[in-house]
Amino acid sequence: MESSAFDPDCDLCEAARYTHWYHEDDVCWVADCEVCSTPMVVWRSHGTGPNEAQLEHMLSQLRTAGGVRFGDEHFFIDENMRQIPDHFHAHARDHGWRDRRWVEPMSKYTGVGTPREILGL
Ligand SMILES: [Zn+2]
Ligand SMILES: [Zn+2]
Repeated sequence: MESSAFDPDCDLCEAARYTHWYHEDDVCWVADCEVCSTPMVVWRSHGTGPNEAQLEHMLSQLRTAGGVRFGDEHFFIDENMRQIPDHFHAHARDHGWRDRRWVEPMSKYTGVGTPREILGL
């Protein structure tokens, strides 16, 4: 049996539902990052060591969310964990991601896999 680690002080463990959620299952969830506003996959377990199958599953879910969000526009998977280095997560970033947090209003949580809605509309 694998045990899921949990850190009460970790924002990713908290998994607060503020922004749009694309997907969730037993392994991971995918939502707009509260910082970058781009799709982000987060492992259900606090740590940096998902096994190969879990990693493949998570990146596949992230690519699906990236496709939903960006369509045919080019995006790439960024596994660099800048803000929270001790809990596995990855972003799907398009070319405009650096500016997105300044120019684009945040999405809001309306349920998992629902149409994406913008906060304030
Ligand atoms: Zn982010
Ligand atoms: Zn965590």
